Amino acid sequence: MKYFFVSLFLMSQIASAKVVLIDPGHGGEESGAVGHLDARRTRKVFEKDLSLRLSKKIKEELSKSTTAYLTRSLDRAVSLQERADLADIVKADLFLSIHFNSSTNAKSHGFELYYLDNNSNVAANKVERSENLNLKGEELIVNQILVDLVVQQTVHHSKELARLVHERVRPVVKLNKIEDRGIKPGLFYVLALSKRPGLLVEVGFVSNPDELRKVNEEKFMNNMAKAIAAGVVSFINKQK
Ligand SMILES: [Zn+2]
Repeated sequence: MKYFFVSLFLMSQIASAKVVLIDPGHGGEESGAVGHLDARRTRKVFEKDLSLRLSKKIKEELSKSTTAYLTRSLDRAVSLQERADLADIVKADLFLSIHFNSSTNAKSHGFELYYLDNNSNVAANKVERSENLNLKGEELIVNQILVDLVVQQTVHHSKELARLVHERVRPVVKLNKIEDRGIKPGLFYVLALSKRPGLLVEVGFVSNPDELRKVNEEKFMNNMAKAIAAGVVSFINKQK
């Protein structure tokens, strides 16, 4: 009888838990940004590997209190549409896309948190271009309509999610002397296609060797994963 109640309790826990889909940016032949850990540029680091490493850690953290899935757990190419379709398959409530930034200016640095919104910010447009690579032409036009609808439906929750994640991430970023570039609106199709409240995180610049060394550290990755997960969990708890 005791076990019956325990299992009933667990079932109700699972039923009220939110499903989070974590999306490690890029993969396979699409390596994303490429950085170098040394001045002689022999030790290459790919954004796709950093994003997968961090995403797996976030999943591990989130799995302690809710249900979390990855859009890819291997080094393989997944289209933006396939990533979004997975949100339907796993019935995701939230979508987190994990990326690392890049710039032609090796001095560019900092952490950024994006939620889906229409905007005309020039700096954001640069990031959007590198993360929206898979879509072109007609697909983009159709998606503009989708974006407007999804923004209407999600922007309120996405902003609140961004605020709570940012609150937890801020001390980690500060401790590691990474500039906090804050929360920004951005037009990321993977967020629109997922049709869920969500975020796109640009953890740091892999094009900046100093910053790459910081974000590549195992300890930094662990702390960042814990902070992002804690922010997501506080969002989930507030919704209850
Ligand atoms: Zn990226």
